[in-house]
Amino acid sequence: MGDRYGKLLERLGIRTFADLLWHLPTRYLDYSRFVPLRMLRPGKEQTVEALLGRMTQRRTSRGQPMTEVELNDPADGLPSGVKATWFGRQFIRERFPEGQLVRLSGEVKWFGRTPQLANPKIEPASAEAVHTGRIVPVYGLTEGLKEGVLRRWLHTAVEGGPKRSPVVDEVPERLPDSIRERRGLLGVRDALREVHFPSDWGHLFAARRRLAFEELLVLQLALGQRRARWTRDAKAVALRADDAAVEAWIADLPFVLTTGQRTALAQIRADLARTVPMSRLLEGDVGSGKTVVAALAARIAAASGAQAAIMAPTELLAEQHFRSLASLYGEGGPRIALLTSSVSGAARRETLARIASGALDVVVGTHALVEERVAFERLALAVVDEQHRFGVRQRATFREKGIDPHLLLTTATPIPQTLSQTLYRDLDMSVLNEMPAGERNIETVVRGADALPKMWPWLREKAEQGEQAFVVTPRIEEDADADVPSAEATHRELARNELRGLRLALLHGKMPAKERDEIMRRFAAREIDVLVATTVVEVGIDIPNAAVMVILGAERFGLAQLHQLRGRVGRRGQRAFCVLVSEKAGESERLAAMTATKRRPDGTEVPLDGFDLARKDLEIRGAGEFLGEAQSGMENELRIVDLADVDPTLLDETALETDGILDADPQLERPEHAGLAAAVEDLWRRYALA
Ligand code: ADP
Ligand code: MG
Repeated sequence: MGDRYGKLLERLGIRTFADLLWHLPTRYLDYSRFVPLRMLRPGKEQTVEALLGRMTQRRTSRGQPMTEVELNDPADGLPSGVKATWFGRQFIRERFPEGQLVRLSGEVKWFGRTPQLANPKIEPASAEAVHTGRIVPVYGLTEGLKEGVLRRWLHTAVEGGPKRSPVVDEVPERLPDSIRERRGLLGVRDALREVHFPSDWGHLFAARRRLAFEELLVLQLALGQRRARWTRDAKAVALRADDAAVEAWIADLPFVLTTGQRTALAQIRADLARTVPMSRLLEGDVGSGKTVVAALAARIAAASGAQAAIMAPTELLAEQHFRSLASLYGEGGPRIALLTSSVSGAARRETLARIASGALDVVVGTHALVEERVAFERLALAVVDEQHRFGVRQRATFREKGIDPHLLLTTATPIPQTLSQTLYRDLDMSVLNEMPAGERNIETVVRGADALPKMWPWLREKAEQGEQAFVVTPRIEEDADADVPSAEATHRELARNELRGLRLALLHGKMPAKERDEIMRRFAAREIDVLVATTVVEVGIDIPNAAVMVILGAERFGLAQLHQLRGRVGRRGQRAFCVLVSEKAGESERLAAMTATKRRPDGTEVPLDGFDLARKDLEIRGAGEFLGEAQSGMENELRIVDLADVDPTLLDETALETDGILDADPQLERPEHAGLAAAVEDLWRRYALA
């Protein structure tokens, strides 16, 4: 292809024939509908065969070169009245002489009273159909690389050329025959041929399904094997506490544990008692009480003479956890300390020394605890709060330091079963699916922007009565797209007009962490009435007095996100409000779900909970969107599967096959699994490079 094209392709990530073959079409044009010239109908894309008649080139009034050709009927050679026109493409005239029989595909428009083909694709009728007369692939391009050129290369790659066998025939089959037969999957070569140049829509579907199947299977095998590796050659410290001690700690808590908390604790205890390091995700809605579970796990570590680290995403959250733990443990509990960047000088040196000597049992901090070189005497449990993917990556960091702690990850994102058995198969799950502090009392309403002039005075009244409010926007700054509410503009406007005189503050992710923490601290201390913020307020912070959550541009948030934001208010069980403001107030299925209810077995109507909403989000928006920021693991290496659009049955089927394979042949050593083993290795290599 030469240097120049080589560089262009490199920009698309294509270095080898294999890369080229895996550069899949982003969409397709249906040019498969052949119509006799005289039957052309405006509207749809159609294909005709025609003899090229008189051709003229001129310039339009705007100075654009235009080529126009009369199309003659191939049967009798007479003019059909239909014309084809092209703007730009002056080469048409040189390439296609008058009298040639050609195939033309494109959109048909009225021109006066005759139909016209506007900028159609054209090929000699005698040539193999590549650009016309079939379902035509459309590829992602880069500047300087023409669509036709790339399509032609791919055609040669899958169909071969003169005296050239197609490179697709060298692609190794990686799926075992048994799976292909059982699941009715195409061979990989046929699949690649059909995905680039489909014979029809049915074949295209089958081809995509087959490629997606392999990709999901390989991803799950990789995750499953990683898990097995953790299990196999890892030596964690077995942590045990006797029942009597644990029950005494629980009895000392200021509240009674929920059933979910008890179950989660039992699962964690069983994991901790083994030398296989735990990899457990503790899932529970905002406010479901994950902290106390983590605190008890850490206490088990302390009672076993080992240390625990509890890591939060922000310094403020770390401080909050530190205070919670101190009060949950009370007298005679583990020796705990806070280690954030605000702890400095002599205090810091002392804390570090006590961590190193084992004089501290539980250390609460941010992720810097693992990233910086904090030396523990005997770290046996790491809790990573609200950043579970990060937690998984940290396992490698720990291992480099020669330790293999039990990992407890927490998340407020409810992960639907289809995803947990596939993308999260490297983790065990514990779920807190009830709220401890009694029912929340939050009224959610969806309103158009036209409701704002009435809403702000209402909000002002609430604030004047001492209730605190959040106003959340999708953007930080204003930009060209003025329709999207921004935190800065909203804050400025409200401070100047509707909420003048109230204590307003602005909070967003571009502010330095210190400044953000300071504002949250003041908000928690009730020194601020209304906090205008972006979704930085989403995670974990407890502002018991906040009773109003206004979300502007609500259609721009995922359901899980909206639900988490809503979870920031009404935390004492007081009457609270969540106002979702959206231009799409009336039509959005998603926003409607936020106010929907379901009937409990006992007949009461309750709002959809986090799991219901997550499932809905998955249905409406697909997994990719759903996972959002949380999606930063290996699933980013997927090249075919669009998580935003993946068929749940495919997830189920591949999960089942993965279980079967790993049960029978965990190391993928059998000859029939050699292909899969190679594919897993490829995936790890790509992941390592990424
Ligand atoms: P999250 O799961 O969002 O991290 P927290 O652990 O911060 O939730 O708990 C939210 C609030 O609920 C805290 O004030 C905590 O003390 C309280 N809480 C936790 N468990 C219980 C319980 N079993 N009964 C009553 N209150 C509880
Ligand atoms: Mg929490």
